[in-house]
This record gives sequence, C-alpha cells and structure tokens, in this order.
Amino acid sequence: MSKVPQPSPPKRPGHSLKIGRLLGVSVFLHWTFAFLILLVIVADSHLGVHAVLAGLFWIGAVFLSVLLHELAHCVVAQRDGVVVDDILLLPIGGVSQMRSLPREPGEEFAISIAGPLTSIGLAVLFAALALLTGSHLWPPTLFTRSWFVRLAWLNLVLGAFNLLPALPMDGGRVLRAGLAMREPRKKATMQAAQIARFLALVMIALGVVWDFWLLIIGIFVILGAGAEEADAARD
Ligand code: ZN
Repeated sequence: MSKVPQPSPPKRPGHSLKIGRLLGVSVFLHWTFAFLILLVIVADSHLGVHAVLAGLFWIGAVFLSVLLHELAHCVVAQRDGVVVDDILLLPIGGVSQMRSLPREPGEEFAISIAGPLTSIGLAVLFAALALLTGSHLWPPTLFTRSWFVRLAWLNLVLGAFNLLPALPMDGGRVLRAGLAMREPRKKATMQAAQIARFLALVMIALGVVWDFWLLIIGIFVILGAGAEEADAARD
C-alpha cells in the first residue's frame, strides 16, 4: 500500500469534550450531545424518572451506534496506513479526522463503505434479536416498542442515510472511489461533487416542506462537496 507523507496533526475539534481514546484515536463528544441530554431532562421531567432514564438510555444508544460506525472507518483506514487523529461524535453522525487521504481508489472505497456496512450489520443483528424476543419490526419506529426494534431502525437509518451518494457523505466517497478506478481522481471528484450538489438541492427542497434536518444536511453537503473539489484541485 502506498503511503503519503503525514503533515503535522491538525487542531483538535472545537466545541467538544474529549471522552477517551480508542484504538489510538482520541474520541470527542460534540456539545450538541450535552444539549440533547438537557433537552431530554427538561422535556421528560414531568413524566417521571423512568421517562428521563429511558430518554438518556436512548441518547447512549445513539452515541454507541455512531461510535461503532466511526470506529469501523478507523480500523480500515489504519489497516491501509492512514493516520486517524480523532473522532468527533455528533447526534446525526460522526466525523473521523484523517491526517491524509487514501490515495488508492480501492482504499478509499474500503474505508468509506466500512461504516455503513457496520451500521447495517448492527441493524440486522438487532432486528434478529427483536424477532427472537417476539417484537414486530413494522411499522418503523425510533421511539416506541422494544429497544431491539428501535436500535434496528436507528442503525438502518444511520447506514442507509450515509450511503446516499452525496460527497462528502460515505456514499459520495464510495461513488468517487468507483469513478476514480477508471479516470483521474480530480475528474472523479468533480463528477461526484456535481451529483452531490444535485442531491443537496433535493434535500433542501424536501427540508423546506418536510423535515428541517434535511435542509441542514443539504447545506452541509453543498459546503462539503465544494471543499472536496477545492482539495482535489490542489493535487
Ligand atoms: Zn461514515
């Protein structure tokens, strides 16, 4: 495997708390997790201690699901000789800060797909546990029925959503890696960024009429796709 020179470590993620080190990677928790904890306590306090504990347990489950997804990226990256400096965990997903980009399309493909595959694997595991314990999986739910059912759907959402072919999301990196197997990386990035911008506009339109989160993610995709293009143009 080819290795690219490693520049000095980047700055630590801002607005976050270091909670430990796993596999030699520092794990940071974004402040929005603290906000979420506060929100659950305030919103559920009138329902009693049990409701608050259930809410906190749910946040813990989201945290662990995102962490396992991110660790999967890290394990494969480290195997390919890419230095991972830290992992930042946000309620909607995680970000693994890599000191260098994988240069081989095959490496980027493997690193990018590892996270979603892990999430989908966990979804299958929890779905099996739900069925074995007599819960029904349909209709989809994140907040009702047994924990196995909720965790199955949470991990499926995490895996499937990240597979959207919208750079800089995992699916967009998988797409870019696929294109880069047949053409220069720069051209592959430009094409993947075009697709990402189109999908981002769809997300923003849906966000306006349906779910506010999609609007936020759409903006994040537009900014991220632009950054990836600028990055590729420097090569
Ligand atoms: Zn991922």
